[in-house]
Amino acid sequence: MKILVVNAGSSSLKYQLFDMDEQKVLAKGNCERIGIDGLVTHKCPGKKDYQASAAFPDHRAAIAAVLALLTDKELGVIGSVDEIAAVGHRFAHGGEKLRKSSVLGEEEMKYLESIVGLNPLHGPPAISGFKACKEVMPKANHVGVFDTSYYSDMKEEAYVYPIPYKLYEEYKIRRYGFHGTSHRYVAGKAAELLGNPNAKIITCHLGNGSSITATVNGKAVDTSMGFTPQDGVPMGTRSGAIDPTVVTYIQKVKGYTAEEVDTLLNKESGLYGVSGVSSDCRDICTAAENGNARAELALKILVHNIKKIIGSYVAEMNGGDALVFTAGIGENDRQLREDVCKNMEFLGVEIDEAFNKSCPRGEIADISAKGAKVKTYVIPTNEEYMIALDTQNLTK
Ligand code: ADP
Repeated sequence: MKILVVNAGSSSLKYQLFDMDEQKVLAKGNCERIGIDGLVTHKCPGKKDYQASAAFPDHRAAIAAVLALLTDKELGVIGSVDEIAAVGHRFAHGGEKLRKSSVLGEEEMKYLESIVGLNPLHGPPAISGFKACKEVMPKANHVGVFDTSYYSDMKEEAYVYPIPYKLYEEYKIRRYGFHGTSHRYVAGKAAELLGNPNAKIITCHLGNGSSITATVNGKAVDTSMGFTPQDGVPMGTRSGAIDPTVVTYIQKVKGYTAEEVDTLLNKESGLYGVSGVSSDCRDICTAAENGNARAELALKILVHNIKKIIGSYVAEMNGGDALVFTAGIGENDRQLREDVCKNMEFLGVEIDEAFNKSCPRGEIADISAKGAKVKTYVIPTNEEYMIALDTQNLTK
């Protein structure tokens, strides 16, 4: 079965075509600058990468270009669009109702449209992307996979904020959690490695956006991101958790509007805000190595906050069987992994520092020290595969 995975952003449309029988990616790429001018990158294993300018006035034009590439005589990998049995669409937000991956019918779409207010950045482009795909592939089964749905089973005490309850009832202000597809994938892999589907697992997805999730029995029990992805650990440009009155205080002393504070906390804070160097962890590591004190501080704040959340989840779960690092920073920054795991013997976390430094990139690695009570793994994430798998399961 061939499955196309689509991740539509406001000006981009990323895609991957999977052959699920062969368990391989046939082609992948990205249409960028949609609505501006248009640039497409298309890669197929064993063939030369293709990049070209193209006119993409909207998502429909972008998906039409993707299908033309996939069926192209030279660059393509399939004979006809009809070979695509199903399309898996990534949605950041499924609200309270879309609690698991679902076939997208009229009812689901109406609901997704009704909650765009909760998700103003990702909701509208994801919906446009879906509509465009449905139009050009009417015969395929279309499935929505939601970042939030992994958190649907959290207990009320984990998701209801201690603010007037009416705000939850009227405006659905609550913790939703994000990156769920990535956490579900790596937590599933860790449970497999442990040979224990009931394991207590803490997964650290540390990338440009970062979140930490606690999983027990294959279900998320808590997560660091909240009503929006802004909560939790400091990120590239997002602050992560701060005392909420900092917001109102900034508004008072600087005279900022709500939008201006939002920009400050989303685009000018986090690793970038503290270091003043960059939002990219590699640049900050280099600056810190060259003696930049604020770059060093930014990294220390990140490590401090990751540790704090890990500790709180161990307390919440009454223990832990595995700690997992994934995404750009988690998979690649060996020093950060060492710093996070240092002085956590009390919790049972101990890593093999030499292997942590030398383990191959891009592969699953067990970096735990011999005899450590808690296993520590590096597991490359694969959200697209998870989306393809859900789509396949809902198509059979
Ligand atoms: P996104 O959230 O955009 O998907 P990624 O998961 O690709 O982001 O992670 C991007 C982050 O990973 C950047 O901060 C980048 O600096 C960091 N990163 C990638 N490689 C390394 C590395 N070798 N050392 C440290 N950080 C790295």
